[in-house]
Amino acid sequence: MNVPQPLLTIVIPCYNEEEVFSETARRLTAVLSDLAKEKLISADSKLLFVDDGSTDRTWSLIAMESTKNHYVTGLKLARNTGHQKALLAGIDRAKYKSDCVISIDADLQDDISAIREFIKKYHEGYEIVYGVRRSRQTDTVFKRTTAAWFYRLMNTLGIRLIDNHADFRLLNKRALAELGRYREANVFLRGIVPMIGLRSAKVFYDRKERLAGETKYPLKKMLSFAFHGITSFSVAPIRFFTFIGFFLFFLSGIAGIYAIIQKMLGYTNAGWASLIISIWFLGGLQLMGIGIIGEYIGTIFTEVKNRPKYAVDIDLYTERLGRSGRQGHEKIQGTKLM
Ligand code: UDP
Ligand code: MG
Repeated sequence: MNVPQPLLTIVIPCYNEEEVFSETARRLTAVLSDLAKEKLISADSKLLFVDDGSTDRTWSLIAMESTKNHYVTGLKLARNTGHQKALLAGIDRAKYKSDCVISIDADLQDDISAIREFIKKYHEGYEIVYGVRRSRQTDTVFKRTTAAWFYRLMNTLGIRLIDNHADFRLLNKRALAELGRYREANVFLRGIVPMIGLRSAKVFYDRKERLAGETKYPLKKMLSFAFHGITSFSVAPIRFFTFIGFFLFFLSGIAGIYAIIQKMLGYTNAGWASLIISIWFLGGLQLMGIGIIGEYIGTIFTEVKNRPKYAVDIDLYTERLGRSGRQGHEKIQGTKLM
Protein backbone atom coordinates (compact mmCIF):
# COMPACT_ATOMS: atom_id res chain seq x y z
CA MET A 1 0.00 0.00 0.00
CA ASN A 2 1.47 3.31 -0.92
CA VAL A 3 -0.49 5.83 1.08
CA PRO A 4 1.42 8.89 2.23
CA GLN A 5 1.98 8.54 5.96
CA PRO A 6 0.91 11.64 7.84
CA LEU A 7 2.96 12.94 10.72
CA LEU A 8 0.62 12.89 13.70
CA THR A 9 1.17 14.87 16.87
CA ILE A 10 -1.01 14.09 19.86
CA VAL A 11 -1.20 17.09 22.17
CA ILE A 12 -1.87 16.28 25.82
CA PRO A 13 -2.28 19.12 28.32
CA CYS A 14 -1.20 18.07 31.82
CA TYR A 15 -1.76 19.88 35.07
CA ASN A 16 -0.52 18.01 38.13
CA GLU A 17 -0.92 14.66 36.44
CA GLU A 18 2.00 12.76 38.00
CA GLU A 19 -0.35 9.96 38.98
CA VAL A 20 -1.49 9.23 35.46
CA PHE A 21 1.45 10.34 33.34
CA SER A 22 3.38 7.09 33.07
CA GLU A 23 0.34 5.01 32.25
CA THR A 24 -0.90 7.60 29.75
CA ALA A 25 2.47 7.76 28.04
CA ARG A 26 2.66 3.96 27.89
CA ARG A 27 -0.80 3.54 26.40
CA LEU A 28 -0.48 6.34 23.87
CA THR A 29 2.96 5.10 22.82
CA ALA A 30 1.41 1.71 22.12
CA VAL A 31 -1.26 3.38 19.98
CA LEU A 32 1.31 5.36 17.99
CA SER A 33 3.65 2.46 17.42
CA ASP A 34 0.78 0.23 16.28
CA LEU A 35 -0.43 2.86 13.85
CA ALA A 36 3.11 3.44 12.62
CA LYS A 37 3.62 -0.29 12.12
CA GLU A 38 0.50 -0.44 10.02
CA LYS A 39 1.84 2.53 8.08
CA LEU A 40 -1.24 4.58 8.89
CA ILE A 41 0.95 7.33 10.32
CA SER A 42 4.59 8.32 10.03
CA ALA A 43 7.06 6.76 12.45
CA ASP A 44 8.14 10.29 13.38
CA SER A 45 4.78 10.98 14.97
CA LYS A 46 4.91 12.44 18.46
CA LEU A 47 3.18 12.67 21.80
CA LEU A 48 3.49 16.29 22.89
CA PHE A 49 2.86 16.62 26.61
CA VAL A 50 2.19 20.22 27.61
CA ASP A 51 2.94 20.81 31.25
CA ASP A 52 0.58 23.59 32.31
CA GLY A 53 2.62 24.90 35.22
CA SER A 54 2.22 21.80 37.38
CA THR A 55 3.42 21.98 40.94
CA ASP A 56 4.11 18.28 41.22
CA ARG A 57 6.59 16.02 39.40
CA THR A 58 4.72 16.06 36.08
CA TRP A 59 7.44 17.91 34.19
CA SER A 60 10.34 15.80 35.43
CA LEU A 61 8.41 12.71 34.43
CA ILE A 62 7.84 14.14 30.95
CA ALA A 63 11.47 15.19 30.56
CA MET A 64 12.71 11.83 31.74
CA GLU A 65 10.34 9.87 29.52
CA SER A 66 11.43 11.93 26.52
CA THR A 67 15.01 10.74 26.93
CA LYS A 68 13.91 7.11 26.80
CA ASN A 69 10.98 7.13 24.42
CA HIS A 70 11.42 8.73 21.01
CA TYR A 71 7.68 9.29 20.65
CA VAL A 72 7.50 11.46 23.75
CA THR A 73 8.30 15.13 23.81
CA GLY A 74 7.26 18.02 26.00
CA LEU A 75 6.51 21.66 26.36
CA LYS A 76 6.68 23.33 29.74
CA LEU A 77 4.64 26.46 30.24
CA ALA A 78 5.96 29.07 32.60
CA ARG A 79 2.86 28.93 34.79
CA ASN A 80 -0.65 27.51 34.99
CA THR A 81 -2.74 29.08 32.24
CA GLY A 82 -5.67 26.70 32.04
CA HIS A 83 -6.59 23.76 29.86
CA GLN A 84 -7.63 25.67 26.73
CA LYS A 85 -4.51 27.78 26.54
CA ALA A 86 -2.25 24.85 27.34
CA LEU A 87 -3.88 22.97 24.50
CA LEU A 88 -3.43 25.93 22.20
CA ALA A 89 0.23 26.24 23.17
CA GLY A 90 0.75 22.63 22.11
CA ILE A 91 -1.20 23.07 18.89
CA ASP A 92 0.74 26.24 18.04
CA ARG A 93 4.01 24.33 18.25
CA ALA A 94 2.78 21.18 16.61
CA LYS A 95 1.08 22.67 13.58
CA TYR A 96 4.18 23.50 11.56
CA LYS A 97 5.61 20.02 11.46
CA SER A 98 2.49 17.89 11.67
CA ASP A 99 0.03 16.82 9.03
CA CYS A 100 -2.58 16.36 11.71
CA VAL A 101 -2.95 17.01 15.40
CA ILE A 102 -5.11 15.13 17.89
CA SER A 103 -5.84 16.63 21.29
CA ILE A 104 -6.73 14.46 24.27
CA ASP A 105 -6.81 14.87 28.06
CA ALA A 106 -4.06 13.35 30.13
CA ASP A 107 -6.43 11.30 32.27
CA LEU A 108 -7.48 9.20 29.23
CA GLN A 109 -11.18 9.50 30.01
CA ASP A 110 -11.58 9.58 26.29
CA ASP A 111 -11.23 6.24 24.60
CA ILE A 112 -7.83 6.02 22.92
CA SER A 113 -8.98 3.28 20.59
CA ALA A 114 -10.97 6.04 18.85
CA ILE A 115 -7.63 7.47 17.66
CA ARG A 116 -7.41 4.73 15.03
CA GLU A 117 -10.88 5.75 13.78
CA PHE A 118 -9.75 9.38 13.70
CA ILE A 119 -6.82 8.47 11.48
CA LYS A 120 -9.02 6.39 9.23
CA LYS A 121 -11.37 9.34 8.82
CA TYR A 122 -8.35 11.49 8.09
CA HIS A 123 -7.32 9.14 5.31
CA GLU A 124 -10.86 9.27 3.96
CA GLY A 125 -10.36 12.99 3.53
CA TYR A 126 -12.06 14.48 6.57
CA GLU A 127 -10.35 17.62 7.82
CA ILE A 128 -11.84 17.75 11.32
CA VAL A 129 -12.82 14.70 13.32
CA TYR A 130 -14.80 15.14 16.54
CA GLY A 131 -14.72 12.56 19.29
CA VAL A 132 -18.25 12.37 20.67
CA ARG A 133 -19.14 10.70 23.95
CA ARG A 134 -21.80 8.09 23.67
CA SER A 135 -22.41 7.84 27.41
CA ARG A 136 -21.18 9.62 30.49
CA GLN A 137 -22.13 6.94 32.99
CA THR A 138 -18.76 7.15 34.71
CA ASP A 139 -18.89 10.88 35.41
CA THR A 140 -20.37 11.99 38.71
CA VAL A 141 -24.05 12.93 38.72
CA PHE A 142 -23.02 16.50 39.44
CA LYS A 143 -20.66 16.65 36.48
CA ARG A 144 -23.23 15.06 34.21
CA THR A 145 -26.05 17.41 35.20
CA THR A 146 -23.95 20.56 35.03
CA ALA A 147 -22.54 19.49 31.67
CA ALA A 148 -26.06 18.83 30.37
CA TRP A 149 -27.19 22.27 31.54
CA PHE A 150 -24.17 23.83 29.92
CA TYR A 151 -24.85 22.27 26.52
CA ARG A 152 -28.52 23.19 26.76
CA LEU A 153 -27.78 26.79 27.73
CA MET A 154 -25.26 27.17 24.92
CA ASN A 155 -27.80 25.78 22.49
CA THR A 156 -30.49 28.19 23.67
CA LEU A 157 -28.09 31.07 23.22
CA GLY A 158 -27.46 29.98 19.68
CA ILE A 159 -23.85 28.90 20.14
CA ARG A 160 -23.09 25.99 17.87
CA LEU A 161 -21.43 23.25 19.82
CA ILE A 162 -21.08 19.61 18.94
CA ASP A 163 -23.15 17.80 21.57
CA ASN A 164 -21.10 15.76 24.00
CA HIS A 165 -17.86 16.61 22.31
CA ALA A 166 -15.07 17.92 24.51
CA ASP A 167 -11.53 18.54 23.42
CA PHE A 168 -10.86 15.15 21.88
CA ARG A 169 -10.53 15.85 18.19
CA LEU A 170 -8.36 15.68 15.11
CA LEU A 171 -7.47 18.69 13.00
CA ASN A 172 -5.61 18.43 9.72
CA LYS A 173 -3.15 20.99 8.37
CA ARG A 174 -5.80 23.15 6.75
CA ALA A 175 -8.00 23.20 9.86
CA LEU A 176 -4.95 24.08 11.96
CA ALA A 177 -4.09 26.97 9.67
CA GLU A 178 -7.66 28.25 9.85
CA LEU A 179 -7.67 27.91 13.63
CA GLY A 180 -4.48 29.96 13.74
CA ARG A 181 -6.36 32.89 12.25
CA TYR A 182 -8.64 33.19 15.27
CA ARG A 183 -6.66 35.55 17.40
CA GLU A 184 -8.91 36.04 20.40
CA ALA A 185 -7.47 35.92 23.87
CA ASN A 186 -10.45 34.05 25.32
CA VAL A 187 -10.07 30.82 23.47
CA PHE A 188 -12.99 28.47 23.57
CA LEU A 189 -11.97 25.77 21.13
CA ARG A 190 -15.24 23.85 21.30
CA GLY A 191 -17.01 26.88 19.89
CA ILE A 192 -14.33 27.99 17.43
CA VAL A 193 -13.67 24.67 15.72
CA PRO A 194 -17.27 24.18 14.48
CA MET A 195 -17.14 27.76 13.19
CA ILE A 196 -14.24 26.90 10.91
CA GLY A 197 -16.45 24.59 8.88
CA LEU A 198 -14.54 22.26 6.53
CA ARG A 199 -15.35 18.60 6.02
CA SER A 200 -15.91 16.98 9.37
CA ALA A 201 -16.82 13.61 10.81
CA LYS A 202 -17.79 12.30 14.24
CA VAL A 203 -16.42 9.26 15.99
CA PHE A 204 -18.45 7.91 18.92
CA TYR A 205 -16.90 6.40 22.03
CA ASP A 206 -17.71 5.68 25.66
CA ARG A 207 -16.30 8.01 28.26
CA LYS A 208 -14.39 6.28 31.00
CA GLU A 209 -13.35 7.12 34.49
CA ARG A 210 -10.24 9.13 35.20
CA LEU A 211 -7.21 6.79 35.29
CA ALA A 212 -6.19 8.27 38.64
CA GLY A 213 -6.06 11.54 40.47
CA GLU A 214 -8.80 14.10 40.76
CA THR A 215 -10.53 16.40 38.32
CA LYS A 216 -8.54 19.56 37.68
CA TYR A 217 -11.78 21.37 36.97
CA PRO A 218 -13.24 22.40 40.29
CA LEU A 219 -16.59 24.22 40.23
CA LYS A 220 -14.93 27.62 40.09
CA LYS A 221 -12.92 26.78 36.97
CA MET A 222 -15.97 25.15 35.39
CA LEU A 223 -18.10 28.25 35.94
CA SER A 224 -15.42 30.52 34.53
CA PHE A 225 -15.08 28.19 31.54
CA ALA A 226 -18.84 28.32 30.95
CA PHE A 227 -18.90 32.11 31.29
CA HIS A 228 -16.07 32.60 28.83
CA GLY A 229 -17.74 30.16 26.50
CA ILE A 230 -20.89 32.23 26.55
CA THR A 231 -19.50 35.75 26.59
CA SER A 232 -16.99 35.12 23.83
CA PHE A 233 -19.63 33.75 21.50
CA SER A 234 -22.97 35.31 22.20
CA VAL A 235 -24.46 38.68 23.04
CA ALA A 236 -27.78 37.02 23.91
CA PRO A 237 -27.45 37.73 27.67
CA ILE A 238 -26.98 41.45 27.02
CA ARG A 239 -29.90 41.43 24.63
CA PHE A 240 -32.00 39.67 27.25
CA PHE A 241 -31.48 42.55 29.66
CA THR A 242 -32.18 45.15 27.01
CA PHE A 243 -35.43 43.34 26.34
CA ILE A 244 -36.33 43.16 30.05
CA GLY A 245 -35.54 46.87 30.32
CA PHE A 246 -37.92 47.78 27.50
CA PHE A 247 -40.58 45.48 28.85
CA LEU A 248 -40.41 46.99 32.36
CA PHE A 249 -40.41 50.49 30.92
CA PHE A 250 -43.60 49.71 29.06
CA LEU A 251 -45.11 48.03 32.13
CA SER A 252 -44.27 50.94 34.41
CA GLY A 253 -45.99 53.28 31.92
CA ILE A 254 -49.21 51.29 32.24
CA ALA A 255 -48.81 51.13 36.01
CA GLY A 256 -48.26 54.90 36.06
CA ILE A 257 -51.50 55.55 34.19
CA TYR A 258 -53.28 53.18 36.55
CA ALA A 259 -51.81 55.01 39.57
CA ILE A 260 -52.92 58.41 38.26
CA ILE A 261 -56.45 57.17 37.66
CA GLN A 262 -56.53 55.69 41.16
CA LYS A 263 -55.29 58.98 42.59
CA MET A 264 -57.93 60.96 40.71
CA LEU A 265 -60.61 58.65 42.01
CA GLY A 266 -59.22 59.15 45.51
CA TYR A 267 -58.30 55.51 46.25
CA THR A 268 -54.60 56.00 47.08
CA ASN A 269 -53.06 54.82 50.30
CA ALA A 270 -49.60 54.42 51.77
CA GLY A 271 -48.50 51.87 49.19
CA TRP A 272 -45.52 50.66 51.14
CA ALA A 273 -45.63 47.12 49.84
CA SER A 274 -45.55 47.96 46.18
CA LEU A 275 -42.79 50.49 46.75
CA ILE A 276 -40.51 48.16 48.63
CA ILE A 277 -41.09 45.35 46.18
CA SER A 278 -40.24 47.48 43.21
CA ILE A 279 -37.11 48.82 44.87
CA TRP A 280 -35.80 45.33 45.48
CA PHE A 281 -36.92 43.99 42.16
CA LEU A 282 -35.46 46.80 40.11
CA GLY A 283 -32.31 47.00 42.22
CA GLY A 284 -31.67 43.32 41.70
CA LEU A 285 -32.41 43.50 38.04
CA GLN A 286 -30.14 46.45 37.51
CA LEU A 287 -27.28 44.84 39.36
CA MET A 288 -27.67 41.68 37.30
CA GLY A 289 -27.75 43.68 34.10
CA ILE A 290 -24.68 45.69 35.08
CA GLY A 291 -22.92 42.49 36.06
CA ILE A 292 -23.59 40.89 32.71
CA ILE A 293 -22.48 43.97 30.81
CA GLY A 294 -19.42 44.00 33.04
CA GLU A 295 -18.62 40.45 31.94
CA TYR A 296 -18.56 41.60 28.35
CA ILE A 297 -16.49 44.64 29.13
CA GLY A 298 -14.10 42.36 30.96
CA THR A 299 -13.90 40.16 27.90
CA ILE A 300 -13.28 43.17 25.67
CA PHE A 301 -10.65 44.35 28.14
CA THR A 302 -8.67 41.13 27.91
CA GLU A 303 -9.07 41.03 24.13
CA VAL A 304 -7.92 44.62 23.66
CA LYS A 305 -4.79 44.15 25.74
CA ASN A 306 -3.87 41.40 23.35
CA ARG A 307 -1.45 39.84 25.78
CA PRO A 308 0.34 36.64 24.90
CA LYS A 309 -1.77 33.70 25.94
CA TYR A 310 1.03 31.73 27.52
CA ALA A 311 4.76 31.78 28.08
CA VAL A 312 6.91 28.79 27.27
CA ASP A 313 9.59 27.82 29.72
CA ILE A 314 11.12 24.76 28.06
CA ASP A 315 10.38 23.44 24.60
CA LEU A 316 11.68 19.95 23.91
CA TYR A 317 9.52 19.62 20.81
CA THR A 318 10.97 22.31 18.57
CA GLU A 319 14.46 21.45 19.76
CA ARG A 320 14.13 17.85 18.73
CA LEU A 321 13.16 19.02 15.31
CA GLY A 322 16.51 20.73 15.07
CA ARG A 323 16.31 24.27 16.41
CA SER A 324 18.40 25.74 19.22
CA GLY A 325 19.36 22.29 20.42
CA ARG A 326 22.18 23.43 22.62
CA GLN A 327 20.38 25.88 24.77
CA GLY A 328 17.51 23.48 25.17
CA HIS A 329 19.82 20.69 26.20
CA GLU A 330 21.28 22.78 28.96
CA LYS A 331 17.80 23.58 30.10
CA ILE A 332 16.84 19.93 30.35
CA GLN A 333 19.98 19.35 32.36
CA GLY A 334 18.95 22.28 34.48
CA THR A 335 15.60 20.76 35.44
CA LYS A 336 15.97 18.30 38.22
CA LEU A 337 15.21 14.87 36.90
CA MET A 338 13.90 13.22 40.02
N1 UDP B 1 -5.66 20.82 32.68
C1 UDP B 1 -4.70 21.78 32.37
N2 UDP B 1 -4.70 22.97 33.06
C2 UDP B 1 -5.61 23.25 34.04
C3 UDP B 1 -6.61 22.29 34.33
C4 UDP B 1 -6.61 21.09 33.63
O1 UDP B 1 -3.87 21.57 31.50
O2 UDP B 1 -5.54 24.32 34.62
C5 UDP B 1 -5.67 19.54 31.94
C6 UDP B 1 -5.68 18.28 32.80
O3 UDP B 1 -4.38 17.90 33.16
C7 UDP B 1 -6.34 17.28 31.89
C8 UDP B 1 -7.31 18.13 31.08
O4 UDP B 1 -6.87 19.48 31.22
O5 UDP B 1 -5.43 16.68 30.99
C9 UDP B 1 -8.73 18.00 31.55
O6 UDP B 1 -8.81 18.16 32.97
P1 UDP B 1 -9.68 17.20 33.88
O7 UDP B 1 -9.57 15.80 33.42
O8 UDP B 1 -9.27 17.46 35.28
O9 UDP B 1 -11.13 17.77 33.62
P2 UDP B 1 -12.49 16.94 33.53
O10 UDP B 1 -12.25 15.75 32.68
O11 UDP B 1 -12.81 16.59 34.93
O12 UDP B 1 -13.42 17.92 32.91
MG1 MG C 1 -10.89 14.41 32.85
